[in-house]
Amino acid sequence: MKIHEYQARDLFAQFEIPVAQGGVAQTSGEALEIARKLGFPVVIKAQVLVGGRGKAGGVKVVSQEAELVSEFNRIKALTIKGYTVDLILVAKAIDIQKEYYVAVTIDNIKGDVVIIISAEGGVEIEETAKTNPEKILKFYLQGEKTLDERRWALVAAQIFPDTRLQKSATSIIAKLVKLFFEKDCSLAEINPFAINGEGNLIAADAKVIIDDNALYRQEKVSQLRDLKYDDADELEAKDKGLSFVKLEGNVGCIVNGAGLAMGTMDAVNLLGGTPANFLDVGGSSNPEKVLNALKIILRNPDIKVILINIFGGITRCDDIATGILKALNQIKMPVPLVIRLTGTNEAIAKEMLAKAGLTTYSSMRQAVTEAVKLTK
Ligand code: GDP
Ligand code: MN
Repeated sequence: MKIHEYQARDLFAQFEIPVAQGGVAQTSGEALEIARKLGFPVVIKAQVLVGGRGKAGGVKVVSQEAELVSEFNRIKALTIKGYTVDLILVAKAIDIQKEYYVAVTIDNIKGDVVIIISAEGGVEIEETAKTNPEKILKFYLQGEKTLDERRWALVAAQIFPDTRLQKSATSIIAKLVKLFFEKDCSLAEINPFAINGEGNLIAADAKVIIDDNALYRQEKVSQLRDLKYDDADELEAKDKGLSFVKLEGNVGCIVNGAGLAMGTMDAVNLLGGTPANFLDVGGSSNPEKVLNALKIILRNPDIKVILINIFGGITRCDDIATGILKALNQIKMPVPLVIRLTGTNEAIAKEMLAKAGLTTYSSMRQAVTEAVKLTK
């Protein structure tokens, strides 16, 4: 879950990571009020959950009231990467002398938390990674949940020009690491990590992504979700107890169990098709879930076929069959259904479905092959 910069700044402040004072405004009147308290110049920044706001014209330093109002209105009217601007952050402008980059994130391949740091901040790190990969340093926490300052000192010395900055960066980054773990982040990024007019380090931007799987224990943070950025179908699926992720393809998949759902998507790909979604109806067998799954999947106009792949263990195939039959009674199926059922109560399920004129498969390969064929 991404949170807005103004929310991430609040987290930074809680962890004593220096940020410029500021507030968030909906109207130019509110923005003026904040700016008067702070004193000019201020920076105004579109609060959208996408990167590259600067390039898109969503960030502007303004030095007087009339300019604030006109720039506020300009930014408010922007659409940045498809998103309208609802809120604008007004913060005391930092007199930026130099821009660094720092992030704490997860290296999935190494299975470790990594600090990524560069003296080439401000720009998007992906750009630097392409053009000057040697200018980006990585420091692995090696399973630790705190910054090993002695080992880190060697990295800090390569990035920051003097011991005062090395020390202050180390102290701030140790706090960023603390925030990363305490708030169950998958990313905590400061870009630019700036030197201000007094020569001190300060976070001039704040980006935090919280691991969705940890939201159950991050009650406060999870309330920060901006629903505008969530897929309505995915939210509804979650509400109905389904794990659902929309994809680009045209084979709708309904599967029991996350592992089999992944395997099904792989099989669809291997046999020449493209899955339209990941969907796990869960381990238990509730006919209602099959009905809900079909309804959600069928909203996708790309769907050419629906593949139901059930390996019955705790899930009973006859419950799934009941769900399918119930759905067929309620919705007119615009695409063919390919059903593979095996395991608990398989024979009962197959008989129920055969009576309704539906063919079923026991072999996953046969079912997937048939489903892919029907998309061509
Ligand atoms: P992003 O483009 O979405 O990452 O937005 P940022 O908040 O990082 O802002 C983009 C750029 O605007 C930064 O790299 C800075 O160069 C500039 N900027 C942001 N805040 C300030 C500020 O307080 N003072 C100055 N002088 N420049 C700023
Ligand atoms: Mn930035």
